[in-house]
Amino acid sequence: MKSTMDIQQHQRARQRAVELGRSMDPTALPELIELLRLPSTEVRRLAASAIGKLAEFGADPPAAVAALAPVALCDRHPQVRQYALKALKNFGAAAEPYLHDLDELAVNPAAKDYVCVAARAAAEAVRAALQQAAEDTVERCSRCHATVAPDECSRSRQAFHRTFCDRCFDEVFLQRRNWEMQVELKKTIQAADGTVVQSDGERIIAEELARLDLEYRYDNRFRIIKGYAVRPDFYLPEFDLYIEYWGMEDNLDYRIGMLEKKKLYQQAGKRVLSLYAGDKPRLREKLREGLNRQKRQEPFGNANQTIQTSKLH
Ligand SMILES: [Zn+2]
Repeated sequence: MKSTMDIQQHQRARQRAVELGRSMDPTALPELIELLRLPSTEVRRLAASAIGKLAEFGADPPAAVAALAPVALCDRHPQVRQYALKALKNFGAAAEPYLHDLDELAVNPAAKDYVCVAARAAAEAVRAALQQAAEDTVERCSRCHATVAPDECSRSRQAFHRTFCDRCFDEVFLQRRNWEMQVELKKTIQAADGTVVQSDGERIIAEELARLDLEYRYDNRFRIIKGYAVRPDFYLPEFDLYIEYWGMEDNLDYRIGMLEKKKLYQQAGKRVLSLYAGDKPRLREKLREGLNRQKRQEPFGNANQTIQTSKLH
């Protein structure tokens, strides 16, 4: 027989569980977890129910699940289990570690029907929450926020180092190309030998190559490399050598395009002499030094294709 003291304590605990369940206060969780350990079936049931109610107010899911799951799965009283299962359901994805146990309990012939039903509902809620979480982490277009399929995502990451859907990919691609072209194609500069180039740096290179009597081709087509517009280049057919003048290094897109183009050259085993906007004050010297260095480092294919040193000085 219970003492008056026990009855009073029980009443207080019972009342407290109800109060805290209505408090909308997530910091009440530790106290409710204490109540969940009391011997009174009724208090445990009320505490479990109260914890479930605090889920939507942000009660710490892992702590709540850690306290609820053993009660839901093992409490000696089926009603307490039922309420703990209902509460667990509200913590969704946090209960993932117990999904297997919930599935087992849902079909356990030794368990009460209403416990099995509650376990099944909890398992379903956990699965739905996991599914939702997976959908929430899906890649989205950084421009229009549409969901982006994995293949779209990898294509745009590769090209732009950003996530775009296919539609935005095409638009961004064109925008960039058009912008770069508009800026650059306005620059039409005629070198002394009549070649129309697109920057003063290129004019200096063209004129120096002509002065050195080196045959060259100047490619005035823009190259789009993985979505980036990169500048034209010089090609010296006699020596199978490309000369690149990287004139817009301060533009990030351009710089990325430059790195991509360099990589492609490298992969194709092409020899490239790179000159930069920063080289401009000494561009002629840099060009000659570069040609000489190319010659020293790796002899050209055959004797006929040797750059005549006399041409370089
Ligand atoms: Zn988009």
